Amino acid sequence: MTIVFKISDNIKPKMIKYYDVLKRDKTPPYAIFQAEESGTIITLYESGKVMFQGISADIDARIWIDLEKKYNNRIIDIKTGKDIASIKQKDTDNLNNYSTIGSDEVGCGDYFGPIVVCAAFVGVLDHEFLNELKVMDSKKINDDRIKEIAPIIMKRIPYSAYILSNEEYNNLDHSKVNLNKIKALLHNKVLFNLVNKDLKYEKIVVDEFTPSKNYYSYLSDTSNVVKNITFTQKAEDKCLSVACASIISRYIFLREMYKLSEEVGKVIPLGAGSNVDLFARELVTKKGMDILNKYVKLNFKNTQKIKIA
Ligand code: MN
Repeated sequence: MTIVFKISDNIKPKMIKYYDVLKRDKTPPYAIFQAEESGTIITLYESGKVMFQGISADIDARIWIDLEKKYNNRIIDIKTGKDIASIKQKDTDNLNNYSTIGSDEVGCGDYFGPIVVCAAFVGVLDHEFLNELKVMDSKKINDDRIKEIAPIIMKRIPYSAYILSNEEYNNLDHSKVNLNKIKALLHNKVLFNLVNKDLKYEKIVVDEFTPSKNYYSYLSDTSNVVKNITFTQKAEDKCLSVACASIISRYIFLREMYKLSEEVGKVIPLGAGSNVDLFARELVTKKGMDILNKYVKLNFKNTQKIKIA
């Protein structure tokens, strides 16, 4: 019995390690190793193809086919070695089969506080570590959990973050730069930083907040534009690097909000709802309208509401 299939990049190192002690002295041409385990000959080729030969080849192959399913959602047909699931999946193209740089931002809907944007690099070998931290559902992770896992992620995952302070934001000419242009400029900035760090990324992924045509037109007067971006909606659910970028930017945002809260002596509410108006009004009553420049995004409608009241 002979079983052949292609092993994924994130499983390959596990396989090499596992068979290290069972390696044969001779390595066939174009092979990384050849090993023998209880009568089955296992050959891993440089192309990524792995061959199992022997009466119980299916038992040995099954271990790896199961791992492919667990880590990569691949369903491999043991008889043909073909991906059953990937035939259907082809168009959705699982982004987590790649090493990626992804970016995300936070603070765009909050009247108080900065906009924080972050780009992160996640290699295929980091996937297991991140899956253990349950990084994938970043939107569902509450702020307490963010504070726990963000520092762990930041120690291991290369990232670049930028904080656009309220003063910087308010200094922009908002008749010329809308929020999407601000986002495009900030994403490009952090992506450019990471792209130049000599990381082995295969794709760059950005949450599609605007069609790609618009994204690049916002950057038409910018030098150092990062190209070849894969734009996709709900990217933080599909791509681990975007999920990490989302968690890190959220963490930095919360840290900044904490600092600002310390300065004003009271916990600043998030969002842009009526409780936020109330809070801002109190602040203005105590310290005057000028204080807002340092703490809020002045072009939000909330400012008008505070003035009228
Ligand atoms: Mn986003």
